[in-house]
Amino acid sequence: MSGDWLGAPRVINAYGTNTRLSGGMMAPEVVEAMARAARGCVEMHALQAAASRAIAEATGAEAGIATSGAAAALMLGAAACMARLDPAAMNRLPDSAGMPNEFVVPRSQRNMYDRAIALAGGRIVEVGIPDRLSGPGVRDASAGELAEAITPRTAAVFHLAGEQAEPPLPEVVRVAHARGVPVLVDAAAQLPPAENLRRFIAEGADLVCFSGGKALGGPQASGILAGRRDLVSSALIQMLDLDLPEEQFVAPPEFAPLNQLRFLPHHGIGRVAKLGKEEVVGLVTALRRFVAADPGERTARWTARLLALQAALPGAVLVPDGAKPGLPLLEIRFAGRAEAQRADAALRGREPAVHLDASRIRLGVLAVNPIALDDGDLPLLAAALKECCA
Ligand SMILES: *Cc1c(COP(=O)(O)O)cnc(C)c1O
Repeated sequence: MSGDWLGAPRVINAYGTNTRLSGGMMAPEVVEAMARAARGCVEMHALQAAASRAIAEATGAEAGIATSGAAAALMLGAAACMARLDPAAMNRLPDSAGMPNEFVVPRSQRNMYDRAIALAGGRIVEVGIPDRLSGPGVRDASAGELAEAITPRTAAVFHLAGEQAEPPLPEVVRVAHARGVPVLVDAAAQLPPAENLRRFIAEGADLVCFSGGKALGGPQASGILAGRRDLVSSALIQMLDLDLPEEQFVAPPEFAPLNQLRFLPHHGIGRVAKLGKEEVVGLVTALRRFVAADPGERTARWTARLLALQAALPGAVLVPDGAKPGLPLLEIRFAGRAEAQRADAALRGREPAVHLDASRIRLGVLAVNPIALDDGDLPLLAAALKECCA
């Protein structure tokens, strides 16, 4: 409530941790850790080695790095799958001519974030027909079709994690590994539940990307790439600033495969996705808090916020979020789409503007998502809901 955004008007964010609305809020402990990190200097590869230990502990992966977001993690993961530990290949990217550069992906998992793969020089190869989503049938891409699309040109199979993802990850891993190809998973928004930090690695993924600025509660411009040590090491060296005499670079044990490089590459394509020491420290602090938190307590805190709002709008209904266990939403159902759109516009036109979860507005539903709400805003929000939605 006491922020300062250079005069830009603040909004009440009841949508969720959406990037467009600047994500959520960081706990004081995270902010303080970032402030302390800002008051000194450190070698970035040593800091990333410390982050790797924390990420490995939280995810069960061999290694991990902090990135400037899940999309950056995806770009770096794709670069790692193509260049592996070949410094000449790293120096050529995003020109991927001559290296395995194809990313096989079920057509139903295509999304606007996968251009991070193209940005690294990857080429998307779509597989399957998502009949089940378009209505005329029940099928989607099959493991057999994925297997068929894997060739010597394949860099990796790409998997967008989610309850709806077909084929399921363990099947994808089975066919990819049988052909010696890694699996790269975008799990940016798959938290909570906290178990998902370990789930995709446990199911055999070679690399997994998470957002730091969503439910994890880290800095908005942070993310995680976790997975196999050789691939994570490749991703790291393609992100680090390498403006130093070659003989001065010694890889820490967390990234030991880098000691086998034939030579030290120049700045890699990840140099455009640079992140600061403050973000690395903030991300790891948030990750540790997230893992240590009691999920029941988190749900109780969110539920209390929504019950306070429901008192002002008795017609609204408390429901569980379908995709995120432990996350309650307060649903406001309107007569139809037009009525919901009118209420949404009225809320956004207020001062401060109120943004509700409008992802189901075409069904005439708006929802209050409690993740990014400030308790101090509850009276204002309750009044706005009463005025615009009753
Ligand atoms: C949010 C999101 C991203 C991007 O995450 P950032 O941390 O904002 O870069 C990528 N993929 C999916 C599926 C997402 O939901």
